[in-house]
Amino acid sequence: MNLRIAYLYAHFLNIYGDRGNIVTLAQRARWREIEVIVDQLGLNERFDPEWYDLYFIGGGQDKQQQVIAQDLLKHADRLHQATQCGAVVLSVCGGYQLLGHYYRPHNGSELKGISLLDAYTVAGSKRMIGNVVIKRKDGTTLVGFENHSGKTYLGPHLEPLGKVFSGHGNNDEDGLEGAVSGTIYGTYLHGSLLPKNPCLADELLTQALIRRHGSISLATLDDTLETSAHKFALGLPA
Ligand code: GLN
Repeated sequence: MNLRIAYLYAHFLNIYGDRGNIVTLAQRARWREIEVIVDQLGLNERFDPEWYDLYFIGGGQDKQQQVIAQDLLKHADRLHQATQCGAVVLSVCGGYQLLGHYYRPHNGSELKGISLLDAYTVAGSKRMIGNVVIKRKDGTTLVGFENHSGKTYLGPHLEPLGKVFSGHGNNDEDGLEGAVSGTIYGTYLHGSLLPKNPCLADELLTQALIRRHGSISLATLDDTLETSAHKFALGLPA
């Protein structure tokens, strides 16, 4: 069994430790004896939408987003096709914003998104910075760090990743954070997200592996360290 990961625009969208999500996914698979292939896909590259099981796109300042936005549009059909065939997409902050319909920054023209998520983003008047705790529908928590001026608004049928327990979230107005549509995930949680949220990491791994290998059950790992980091971020005794 193997896992194929596409790391999109690694040299442009990789702030606040977002590459740690790739490290976590790869290591948690390898600890389970699953071979992992990670390909970094940059500008002007093409890929077979049938090939990758999981795509990751991280965060970046407006300038980096402006550099890659046009290129990402060229992949819109391939990424729609890939997710319709069960591929997982994890997007963080700037990458998340470009998965929606558009991102309208403070300066420069509006950046057209690829509409994988029914959402749009407009730059706000203040930066939303700090630690975040959100609660998912099942009552579990996710922790991370946010730093964005963009305010993201979800379409009427798009589920949030969770509700803000502390921090700002999508827009500091509706109490929502992130977005989930099938196997497509968007969030503002940097930090990076997955090392401190092992349950989410395994949720993504499971979905990505099911695509080509059918139903699987991941072996349990010793998450003592990850859980204490999560608890520390919650302000609980580690
Ligand atoms: N440039 C975007 C914003 O400021 C995204 C920032 C980020 O990826 N951290 O909202």
